[in-house]
Amino acid sequence: MTTNTPTETAKDAVKNAAGLPSSVTTADIGKPDNRLSIEKSDPGRRGIAFKNLLSAKQSGGSASGGKATDEVPAGFARKTAPKLPELSELDVVRHYTRLSKMAFSVDANFYPLGSCTMKYNPRINEEAAALEGFSGLHPLAHDKSSQGTLEMLYDLEKRLCALCGMAAFTLQPAAGAHSEFTGLLIAKAYFEKLGDSARTEIICPDSAHGTNPATAAMLGFTPVNIKSGPDGRVDPADLKVHLSDKTAVLMLTIPNTLGIFESRIEEIADMAHKAGALVYMDGANFNALIGLVKPGDLGVDIMHINTHKTFSTPHGGGGPGAGGIGVKNRLEEFLPVPRVLKSGGAYTTDYNHPHSIGKVKAFFGNVGVLTRAYAYLLMHSKKELAGIAENAILNANYMKSRLQAVYPAHSKEYCMHECVLTPPDELTAKGLKTLDVAKRLLDYGFHAPTIYFPLIVHEAIMIEPTETESKETMDSFVETMLAIKNEGASTPQLLKDAPHTMPVKRLDEVQAARQPNLRW
Ligand SMILES: *Cc1c(COP(=O)(O)O)cnc(C)c1O
Repeated sequence: MTTNTPTETAKDAVKNAAGLPSSVTTADIGKPDNRLSIEKSDPGRRGIAFKNLLSAKQSGGSASGGKATDEVPAGFARKTAPKLPELSELDVVRHYTRLSKMAFSVDANFYPLGSCTMKYNPRINEEAAALEGFSGLHPLAHDKSSQGTLEMLYDLEKRLCALCGMAAFTLQPAAGAHSEFTGLLIAKAYFEKLGDSARTEIICPDSAHGTNPATAAMLGFTPVNIKSGPDGRVDPADLKVHLSDKTAVLMLTIPNTLGIFESRIEEIADMAHKAGALVYMDGANFNALIGLVKPGDLGVDIMHINTHKTFSTPHGGGGPGAGGIGVKNRLEEFLPVPRVLKSGGAYTTDYNHPHSIGKVKAFFGNVGVLTRAYAYLLMHSKKELAGIAENAILNANYMKSRLQAVYPAHSKEYCMHECVLTPPDELTAKGLKTLDVAKRLLDYGFHAPTIYFPLIVHEAIMIEPTETESKETMDSFVETMLAIKNEGASTPQLLKDAPHTMPVKRLDEVQAARQPNLRW
């Protein structure tokens, strides 16, 4: 990689030509200005001038002529002006543009972060969510003035029911983990109503997403871990040993964190049901199944989806998420309120559900995110939705098949939307780890894959290309991974010191965790 740092001689030439003071060293030239906005502040410099914000009339015709501060009761008004950066508009634009370039984003870089589905978020979603009728609606508005939004929520629920094979959906949860929480609350309410208080265990395979056992524990259940077989799937024999009249829920991540489909799901779900348990599916990675499989048809009783992954709404530091839980008929009465109902062509909100678990989020959840997801759903036909899953699977298998010659794959099986690889012997022989490969990728302009997850794979490298990447981008990533192997085998230090081109270089991660320095 080349960098844009000017050579020392070039810097000297610049310094001399510019007649810079001796306090400026040649090392300063060409360096980005890393100061905080407050450090760049110059007293009196302004982007926008605020005059009297309110006219005398608006502020109640006060004697002072109506300054904005007249609205603030005397006891609360500040005595001194706040210490804010004083900058021109251009300074501010440059400041934030520079900061924005320091972060990786889907819009700028390939982002193969396994399990996170960092795919392209179509801009039309943003336009839909910004429509005045949606974005301008007050959350306390009466049903009569919220018909458009209620219709959108109602129709989104219905469409998700059809895609998932479920009887009813709630859109209230704010994320995947929050959906799990909601789903297990529903399971809890179900067993409480049955008067079955002995069911305190939740079975999670070791290939489950970490949030599954964590959510179980958070709700006071005991997570029971079962081992995957050599094919990366639940071993029915081991499941049989752990199922009992203490089992409340069998909680499966499908596809699991190895990127593998639980192909014996019907048999497994049947076993759980015979033991009196419910089957929960973590469908956060539904982009691998959408249009191809209806989990409800396979015996799943409760499932969640992550609209911010499957339905392409910005996430991962780029915005809030929205989950969604689908349930079978016998669990519908426990869903959060309000439910959106339709009668005689009008939409109403309904709180009259005595067995509901109540509210898990204010109002209707993250409606802005749901509006984006709805737009995404509307723009794809049923066939195109299946095409999303097919391309997600095709892309992951393409990358796996090209990379596994050098980076051994954990499983010989075809994967779904992501694959799990490990570092080659040529690198481990030099003391190099997955972390070193991940850091070196940054130098080439790629976001690192998910690493060291799932925990059951030593030195895991989990790659999810998503369905929106082109073959050229995937090829370029593959070539880079192969080049990194060669670099590491010949010059291991190059990888150990990576990244070389990022604003923040290699951190001492142990020290950063134990003695975090959180001040500028
Ligand atoms: C992303 C993910 C989650 C968590 O979702 P959040 O929205 O981040 O809470 C749970 N399970 C799986 C399988 C996931 O991929």
